[in-house]
Amino acid sequence: GDYNQKIDYVFKVVLIGDSAVGKTQLLARFARNEFSVDSKATIGVEFQTKTLVTDNKTVKAQIWDTAGQERYRAVTSAYYRGAVGAMLVYDMTKRQSFDHMAKWLEELRGHADKNIVIMLIGNKCDLGSLRAVPTEDAQEFAQRENLFFMETSALEATNVETAFLTILTEIYRII
Ligand code: GDP
Ligand code: MG
Repeated sequence: GDYNQKIDYVFKVVLIGDSAVGKTQLLARFARNEFSVDSKATIGVEFQTKTLVTDNKTVKAQIWDTAGQERYRAVTSAYYRGAVGAMLVYDMTKRQSFDHMAKWLEELRGHADKNIVIMLIGNKCDLGSLRAVPTEDAQEFAQRENLFFMETSALEATNVETAFLTILTEIYRII
């Protein structure tokens, strides 16, 4: 368990993106292996932690979830402070949520450390028949902006652990 364990590193990772793209459910899936259909809009800044062991080092991932502040510029600088990783999440069935990624990225880069590791996430890949964002569009954006990219489903637990482990491993690699 987490008790009496020496923590070698704490990595703060922030989730950003439009409301209803699935940020809270991605975090619930990763941190507790849970999912809820009637997910409430998050109130108040919150984070959850998950402790992992790699290379005999204990890493505590502290993942921050926005507090229903998902309008552009409403997320405060305290949210970004100290973050070493960020997940930019869109809903692949909502084109607008992808089109807003450039704004979120600009805001993130305006606040965060220049070495922050960023991953673009196209969530809700279980809803394939409703897809509004081709994989290639997202890949192209990610490549241009130097982001990692993955498509996930918090509902079906597809690629969620892989996405978080990938960003945490990359953070660990560059520190
Ligand atoms: P947030 O506002 O970005 O935190 O979004 P939530 O995590 O609250 O999710 C918004 C809605 O989308 C909720 O009804 C979730 O149940 C649903 N949702 C989240 N992730 C997925 C997913 O991977 N697939 C599907 N089909 N629905 C999802
Ligand atoms: Mg939320």
